[in-house]
Parts: sequence; C-alpha cells; structure tokens
Amino acid sequence: MDLINANGIGKIGAKVLDGERISPEEAYDLYSLPLAELGMLADARRRWKKKDAYGGAGERIVTYIVDRNINYTNVCNVGCKFCAFYRRKRDADHYVLSPETISGKVAELEAIGGTQILLQGGHHPDLGIDYYLELLSYLKEKHPGINIHGFSPPEFIHFSRTFEMPLEEVLRRFRDAGLGSVPGGGAEILVDEVRKRIAALKCSADQWLEVMRTAHRLGLRSSATMMFGHVESLADRIEHLRRLRNLQDETRGFTAFICWTFQPENTALGGRKLGPSEYLRMQALSRVFLDNVDNIQASWVTQGPEIGQVALRFGANDFGSVMMEENVVSAAGTTFRMTAKEIETFIGEAGFEPRRRNNWYELLS
Ligand code: SF4
Repeated sequence: MDLINANGIGKIGAKVLDGERISPEEAYDLYSLPLAELGMLADARRRWKKKDAYGGAGERIVTYIVDRNINYTNVCNVGCKFCAFYRRKRDADHYVLSPETISGKVAELEAIGGTQILLQGGHHPDLGIDYYLELLSYLKEKHPGINIHGFSPPEFIHFSRTFEMPLEEVLRRFRDAGLGSVPGGGAEILVDEVRKRIAALKCSADQWLEVMRTAHRLGLRSSATMMFGHVESLADRIEHLRRLRNLQDETRGFTAFICWTFQPENTALGGRKLGPSEYLRMQALSRVFLDNVDNIQASWVTQGPEIGQVALRFGANDFGSVMMEENVVSAAGTTFRMTAKEIETFIGEAGFEPRRRNNWYELLS
C-alpha cells in the first residue's frame, strides 16, 4: 500500500499500511496509538479497500440508504439490562402490529423513495410462525420493491425454540416467504461472560454466530454489529472482532459492520456514556482488524452527525440510513435524526460524494 509514507509510524503502522492482517495481540498496540495516528491508518485501509469499488470511484464515495425501522412488537420476556424499549404483556403500552398497519408504514416509506425496512421486535412468547410468515408474504405482495431486512440472531433462536423447529428450517421458511437479509442485531459483545451480565436470557455467542452461518449458507446476507461501552473489557471487544472475522473468512456473508456505544438512559444497567474519542478509536480498530469486511458504517445516530463526519476519516465508508422511524435507541435517550437531504449535506461537507445505495451496497442513483 503506497497511500501513506510508512516512515516513522512504527512496526504496527507499517504492517497496516502494507495491507497485512493484524493479530489480536497486535490489536492492543493499534488501539493504544495516538488517536489521530490510528485514524490515519484506518483511513488508509478504507481507501485501499474501496479503491476499486464503483468503477474506481470508491475512495471518494460515501453511501447511505433510505429505510424505516419497524418494530412489530415491543413485548419481550428477555429483559436485557441495556434495553429501554421492551414491555411485558401486563404493561398498558404493549403492542403487536398487524400486517395492514405495517404495510401502511411501508407505503409511507415508498412515498419518500425508501427501499428497505428493518423489521425487528421483542421475543414475544405467544406469536406463532403463522404471524411471521403471513406478515412476510403480505408485505412482499404489497411492496415487491422493498427489501425486508428482518429479525436478528436472538430472535431466530427464540423462533426455533418457540416453533419447536430446527433453525435452518425457520430461516428457509422465512426466506421463502420474503425475507431478504438479516440484520446483525443482538450481537452486543460475542463473549458469553459479558452476555450473562447484561442479557442473561439472550442467545449465546455461539448461537448468534450459528444463525449467521446458517443464514449465509441459505443465501441470506447480513450485517454485523457491536454494542460496547458497558461491562466489557478491551480484550472482550477484540475477541468479538476475532470471532466475526473468522466467520467472515468462512462464509463471506457479512456485507457491513457497525459499532455503537451503549446508551445508558432509562436502562437497568445505567452507567456512563462513552465519548466520541473512544467510539472513533474502536471504529478505526474495527476497520483495520476486519480486513475481510468491505463496508463500515458510521454510527451518527448515537454520536451525532458531526462525529459521523469525523468517523468517515476513521475507517467508515457509509453513513447508515435515513431511518424514517426509530424506536429502540431513542428509548434509551438518543435522538439524532436526519433526512436524506441532510445526510447528503453532511457527507458532502466532509469532502465525499454522497450516493444512495441498496442493502447490498449497489448504487441506486
Ligand atoms: S434488547 Fe431485544 S431481546 Fe433484549 S429486552 Fe430489548 S427487545 Fe428484548
């Protein structure tokens, strides 16, 4: 890699600039570099990774998608300590949305040119497979141009248990009914000791990875995520990245990675909110470490649009989504929202060319 002169940046920096794979041990050295230096290395990796994309324009293009988060139910029996969204069935404000109501929301999305819904919900104890299959078929029939980016690995483990059906069969039936891709939600940190402390009833790290392995085998691509800044250590975060990278070596099914910081407001876990420098440091490390993942999304929803702009120089090449509706992160106190026009302005002001994309990172305009 000849994008930056490697003189004076040390052995680990030279290795990054040479495009070599970083070991988990070396990830510690990278993480402890001065912030600007780490950002420069991640930026070099982004440019190297994207230089052949989009007909050779990948270095200067930053993508985004117009979508809508739809949470079909807020009923959940898992009780994650970091979650401010879920309700019990006894709570007056619990709900389950009908296919017609969800279709109405999708129609509103289509009216503003959106192309995808992120469809997720709590682990409802009573909804049977018919609710989900009918919902997917109904939406696909009414809105054939909309990609259903739906559910998450913990939801699929819950479905497999509740429906008493093998995981692969559940995924196959969902895919055949209209599911287009699987979001990487519920990963938090893929280390069981951490998961037990923040979400004792959620699926294990191995189960999360097994859902993604199975989905990829069935042709369903997915994103990968990390929520950090709660009870985990740096070693846990690096282990999380190591496990994702290993699975990506095996399947090549992850389209993108996004990390965000834990939002403590209104949650049982509480605690301190990490600041921008730790977010940028972690995102930069992820860009370098995940050398087999093409796209890194900036998390401006939790950090704000200005830090989102800086994140584009710390390894990110995508500005995420317009998110016409968002209920989960905002329940924990975060309220950053933007229109497509505002997103394009922020990307342009950061020195990049904004382009709209679909779920598979193909340009739409
Ligand atoms: S994060 Fe998801 S699984 Fe956990 S309590 Fe909230 S809705 Fe339920």
